[in-house]
Order: sequence, then C-alpha cells, then structure tokens
Amino acid sequence: MNKLPVYCFILIFMIACQPKAKEKFDLLIINASVIDIAGGKILPGKLIGINKDTIQLVANMASADSYASDQIIDVKEKFVMPGLWDNHVHFRGGDSLINENKNLLPLFIAHGVTTVRDMGGDISPSVLQWRNKIREGQLEGPNIFTSGPKLDGADPFWAGSISIGKLEDIKPALDSLEDLKVDFVKIYASSLSPDLYYRIVEACEKRGLKVTGHIPLSADHFDAIEFGLDGIEHLFPLLSLASPIGDSLRQLNLGFGMFPQVLETYDEDFARAAITKLASKDFYVTPTLYVSQVIMQLADMDPTVDSLLPLIGPGIQLTYERRIKQAQNRSAEGKQLMLDMDIRERSLVLPMFQAGITILAGSDCGPSNAYVYPGAALHNELALLVETGLTPQEALSTSVISGPKFFGLDEYYGGIEVGKVAHLIMLTENPLENIENVRSIDLVLKGANIYDRSKLRTLKTQ
Ligand SMILES: [Zn+2]
Repeated sequence: MNKLPVYCFILIFMIACQPKAKEKFDLLIINASVIDIAGGKILPGKLIGINKDTIQLVANMASADSYASDQIIDVKEKFVMPGLWDNHVHFRGGDSLINENKNLLPLFIAHGVTTVRDMGGDISPSVLQWRNKIREGQLEGPNIFTSGPKLDGADPFWAGSISIGKLEDIKPALDSLEDLKVDFVKIYASSLSPDLYYRIVEACEKRGLKVTGHIPLSADHFDAIEFGLDGIEHLFPLLSLASPIGDSLRQLNLGFGMFPQVLETYDEDFARAAITKLASKDFYVTPTLYVSQVIMQLADMDPTVDSLLPLIGPGIQLTYERRIKQAQNRSAEGKQLMLDMDIRERSLVLPMFQAGITILAGSDCGPSNAYVYPGAALHNELALLVETGLTPQEALSTSVISGPKFFGLDEYYGGIEVGKVAHLIMLTENPLENIENVRSIDLVLKGANIYDRSKLRTLKTQ
C-alpha cells in the first residue's frame, strides 16, 4: 500500500486539531447589555471588541472563547450605550476665563457627554485649539464641533461675534470662518434685517456650510429654509407660526413685544399646519427646554444648596449675575408671559418629533447661563424631553442619533455596531425604562481613555 495518503491524512488531522488562534483586540468589553437606541431594545450577553477608537466586533458571549485581549472589562450585565451628545453648549466669558472654560471639559466626560456642539462665543481660538487637541488625543474632553464666532448684525449682542452690517460684509465673514475651519455656522439675529439674514443663509448654502441659530423675529421661517437654513435653536422663534395673525405680527417688527398677541391668538390647527410644513424639509430644532426652566426659576434659586456650583470657576460664576439680576427685576406680567410661552413651546416638541422634524437635545450650558452646568444639564434636558411626551428611547435618540446626523456622521456614531466610534457609556440602570437612569453612569470609554467610577469622581474635582 502506498503510504502517502496515510501521511496526508495524519497531516490534515493535525492541522484540524490545532487550537484556532484567537482574534485579538486592544480592548474587550464582556457581559454587556447593549442598548440599541435606534431599535429601542436591550441586547443582553454581548461582547464588544475595540481596536484604537473603533468598534470592530459585537458578538454573543457564547463565542467569547474565540476572542482575546490584554485588556478585558467585565461590565457584568451593565447597560452599554453610545456616549451622549450635548448639541448646544457655550464656551465664553472673555480671555480671562479661558482656563475656567477649559476646566469645564472634564465635567462633560464625568456625565457621559462625549461630544458637544459649541454654539459660539468669544474665545474661539482656544475652543478650536481644544477641538484639535482632543481629536489628536492630547487633551481630555468631549469631541467638539464648533461654529467659531457667531454671526450677528451691525450691533452684535454677544462679545466675539462677527458683525455683518451690509451685504459686502458677508463674504469676508464667511471667508474668515472657513479659514478657521469651523464645523458649521451659527447666526445670532439680534440686529439683522430679514433680508440680510436670508443673504447670509443663502451664502452659507452656496458654500456647503451647515447653518443654524436664531432667526430675526420679523423674518419668514419658510423663506429662510428655502434659502438653506438647516435648523433653529430654541423654540420661541417658532411660536408665531401658530398664530393666524403671525405673518402680520412679524411684519410689524415688534420684536419680543409680539409674543403677548401671539399667545392670545395661538391656534392649535395653525401650529399643526406649520409643523407639517416644517417637517417637509430636512430641518433641525434644538428646544433647549432646561435653560428656559432655569431662567424662569432663577429669582428663587438658592445656590448654597447646589452641589454642582462649587465645580464651576469663580469667574464663570460672576457671569451668572446678569441673568440673575434680570430675573429679580422681572415684573409679574413678564414672569407670566415667560410661563405662558414655555407651556406653548413645550407643547410643540412631541408633534414636531412625530411629524419627522429632527429634534436635537441641547442644554445651552456654559458661562452666562446661570446654574446650567456642563454634563448634568444634558441629563436634565433629556428628562424634560420625556416630560413633553417623548419616550426615553426617543429622547436619547435626540442626543446620540440626531447629533451626528446634523453633521452627516450617522455612519460613525449613534449605535454600538462594527465600524462605529468607540465612545461608550456604561450605566447600572436601564435608561429605556426611566430616563433618570441615564445618570447612573458607572464607566465612560472614549477611545483609549477609560474612566471608571473613581476616575469619573476625580474629573469632577480637577
Ligand atoms: Zn445658546
């Protein structure tokens, strides 16, 4: 008998019996209950393989023997979801507060916020520097998308804004923003005529720049959208759309003086029709409910019982005074108007969401906005979105799915899937059952940075 086939058989047998090499990852997270935010489901018993800052594997624990890593985190059935996005924050207060602003960065991470959309201020060179350093792993903090300086009219409200008083100012303003490599454009419309505003929006559209912000109260929302406006920050600019005399009120150019009449003539059917029309566009609305609530309560707040205030620098605390004094001096009618506006504003959120307008969770935290703290304020915003009628899953989607969508980055964020960025938070309680559970943060993972409970605590006291 020829012996060759026998040798071949033995060789094949030996190869087959060799233990299969395990696939190796920089980091393995095991025993995870993965929260699928888009699907609103919990996927228990998962392991997540990460290389550098990218998720490379999501598999069942039954196959755990096939994978290895020098670094394994057993999350023991804790809930794992994508890091939170706060889609409306500010860094500002002048050069003397640059360091105090920088000290806010760890606070975001300590509360599970791994990305922020900065809506502009007066320390843009520093914010841009932080943005780049964080991306390169040289500075700890949330990923930053920034508008750089805000655009405003001839007489800007906020320090550091770029003033556009006439048509010829638009080109150099947008050139300078492009030179800074900003991520989008924010318009603050305190002193802009509707026509100049439309021209700015149109110019942004032509350059392919995303543009959001305020809208002059006398401008037509739908015209602005036709020119290329991508979104609106806060809900008050939308209220006049719900009044049958909204068009004429806007044309009277009454500014905030139009709101008593807007509320008197508020009509649910008009509101619904306007929402349907807005939803026919690819449009983003950032309600910023929490900052409105705080501003209404400012006069009666007792900061001495506030456990988060000591985490904020003394210079930033001084910036709170303007809003606090405003609140203390507000007349009874002024207070009532704010309250009435707030009720109507909140009633818009659920119908807008259901109609398909993309809602963004944003807290408006930062200097000047008293007691609206980085990180914690986003948790409060999510809770308020649930109060307006969104489910916890829908509220979470306005943070972690809609945030990346604004920048066309859905492919890389918003879920725990192969190819997505490894910005993850681990919670001890299920946030799909109760949105308050989003506060139960046990561990934050941002690429190569792993923050366990003790590290998260130190981030709050740095
Ligand atoms: Zn803001």
